[in-house]
Amino acid sequence: MFVDVAKVRFTAGRGGDGAVAFHREKYIASGGPDGGDGGKGGDIVLVVDNHMSTLVEFRYKRKFVAQNGDNGAGKRCSGRDGKDLEIRVPRGTLVYDEESGALVVDMSNIDRFVLCKGGRGGWGNQHFATPTRQAPRFAKPGLDGESMYVRLELKLLADVGLAGFPNVGKSTLLSVVSAARPKIANYHFTTLVPNLGVVRVDEEYSYVMADIPGIIEGASEGAGLGHQFLRHIDRCRLLVHIVDVSGCEGRDPIEDFNAINEELSRYNEELASRPQIVVGNKVDLVYDREIADKFAEYIKEQGYPYYEMSAATRQGVDELLNRIAEELSKLPPIQVYEPDYVAPEVVRDDYSFTITRLDGDVYQVEGDWLIRALGSVNFDDYESRLYFERLLRQHGVFDALEERGVQENDTIIIYDLEFEYVK
Ligand code: GDP
Ligand code: MG
Repeated sequence: MFVDVAKVRFTAGRGGDGAVAFHREKYIASGGPDGGDGGKGGDIVLVVDNHMSTLVEFRYKRKFVAQNGDNGAGKRCSGRDGKDLEIRVPRGTLVYDEESGALVVDMSNIDRFVLCKGGRGGWGNQHFATPTRQAPRFAKPGLDGESMYVRLELKLLADVGLAGFPNVGKSTLLSVVSAARPKIANYHFTTLVPNLGVVRVDEEYSYVMADIPGIIEGASEGAGLGHQFLRHIDRCRLLVHIVDVSGCEGRDPIEDFNAINEELSRYNEELASRPQIVVGNKVDLVYDREIADKFAEYIKEQGYPYYEMSAATRQGVDELLNRIAEELSKLPPIQVYEPDYVAPEVVRDDYSFTITRLDGDVYQVEGDWLIRALGSVNFDDYESRLYFERLLRQHGVFDALEERGVQENDTIIIYDLEFEYVK
């Protein structure tokens, strides 16, 4: 089965908790705090696998969670970091943030990408000892890992896209010019997955050709099979538009040619104006030279390069391949999409904070703005200290502490700042 879109929830591992422990040894009655730190949670890492060509692995499994960090332990033992979870994706996978619709990354020209970072481990109580508090009975909990709900979308990477009605010989051409072995059969809709083949021009130069499942009329509106595959030619630098000119199916090549272009432009205006080489195929079968000649004339009038070939007998194939290589050398490289995702930022005037009662008489206050404020205050300076105190009062920190039942001389910890509460 071919799957090229999937919605998946990825969650990095949680950091392990810091430990509360005290050093114990023979002949030493009671030692200092030696609780180790929690380990870091595992990351979610996207890794390109060049052998994958579908997102089918995400059809049934839609939730991936990396390993949590282990908790810290006594004797200053840090918890082990959680293992990163590597998620294999085909090259050309686009990752969108489902909520904002923004592109997070295009896995085309990079091999690895850390999508969600694991949470930091908490500090063990070994870090919280001070001359006045030699036995801290608290440690920090680990932080949650990042989590993201994403839409994965595969847009294959190919220089050349083969366009055309079903049964015109697209798969046959790919099979005679590359090592790809697409299914070939004499009925419509044989190709259900896009096939990629590498066409080797010489020692140094090769390009990738994609056989896109038949585009049929109405495909751009979702009718029939073709629709979901159109995105795979989005990146193609050059289209090779194949038309059956043998007349043996009783079709009019000019009508077929226009119908396909109509479909392309309905899907994406720009796609229809992408450079195209037109190929009349199955010339070994032509019984009415007039149909083929009329078509050739029509195409040349439109200004497209035109080639005739027989994919089956290989007549004219080399001339076509040379022309493709020549055109590609003039065209810009395969398109890689620029990410436009911005991680949600901390709101600037957000003065929220949390209070945690760590121990009987120790309160911890945390908030992003406090980190910034601490960085700007010089605590050796009386005026600065007053300013900081005003800031805490102004944003309700003291009121909130009172509400939590703080007592005279209790300890307040705000990150690396620690002081005694005075009413
Ligand atoms: P696709 O649907 O465009 O991929 O078409 P296929 O490559 O599967 O070909 C459809 C049928 O046309 C198959 O039976 C092929 O063997 C046949 N075919 C393809 N190219 C030629 C050709 O140049 N000459 C002849 N006689 N038959 C061809
Ligand atoms: Mg085919």
